[in-house]
Amino acid sequence: MSGKAMVDSGGGWVKTVIAANAGPLTLDGTRTYILGPAPCVVIDPGPDLADHLDAVEVALGTSQVAALCITHHHADHAAGAADLILRLAAPLAATPESAEQAALDPPDLPLAPGSSVSFGGGHLEVVGAPGHCPDHVCFHWPQARALFTGDTVLGEGTSMIAPPEGDMAAYMSTLERLAGLELSIIYPGHGPEIDEPADKLHEYIEHRRQRERQVLDALGEGLSTPAEIRARVYEGLDPRLFGAAEGSVLAHLAKLVDEKRVRVEEGRYLPNSQQ
Ligand SMILES: [Zn+2]
Repeated sequence: MSGKAMVDSGGGWVKTVIAANAGPLTLDGTRTYILGPAPCVVIDPGPDLADHLDAVEVALGTSQVAALCITHHHADHAAGAADLILRLAAPLAATPESAEQAALDPPDLPLAPGSSVSFGGGHLEVVGAPGHCPDHVCFHWPQARALFTGDTVLGEGTSMIAPPEGDMAAYMSTLERLAGLELSIIYPGHGPEIDEPADKLHEYIEHRRQRERQVLDALGEGLSTPAEIRARVYEGLDPRLFGAAEGSVLAHLAKLVDEKRVRVEEGRYLPNSQQ
């Protein structure tokens, strides 16, 4: 757990509690954020690990909780919600889709893009952020110029965008939307805080554009299966990430097929003539 970090919001603050679920995709573990002053909000309860939920309770102390928010339904972000709701008697703030897919009761505070959640530090605006999965939202805290990105932007490396849940075209639109916000800091769901949000979002957008060009180049050279393209585009990759990388290649290919820049014939991907 890291200590209380003051943010430039006229007295608001953020505490970070890191879960013990480190891995190649979760980096050093899922980050649960507590925003104050009270009544606080909790963003992403994290995995259903008793030690982690204990640490979240300790970090909250006696503070009242205005809402327990979740960015998306994946277990490393939302599975601890059911237990934490009971421990804190806190209302769940989530999209109905996220709550349903995480097997939670319908949310007390149903969220949708454009809605907001009030707490002691101001309010959080819900920003639609499909791409990593369809139900993903980010939380924008305008008083602190802060954005809580879940799995949409990570503190290190890039996000997992892979079919069937991942949608590269939606993800690119989401990144453009986030780049339009006035931000001083990003708090990702995994990895360290990002102090240069505009630069990071620009880097993320440019990275995906470059990957798309690399996929098209590989197709132009006659490579035609996701595995072949992955081996070309992600040379020297940690083998534990082959599956994730191939998923990302598939997400790029699906976008290119939708755009009619690529076609599929008998399981092989082929560039259309204007490529
Ligand atoms: Zn996720």
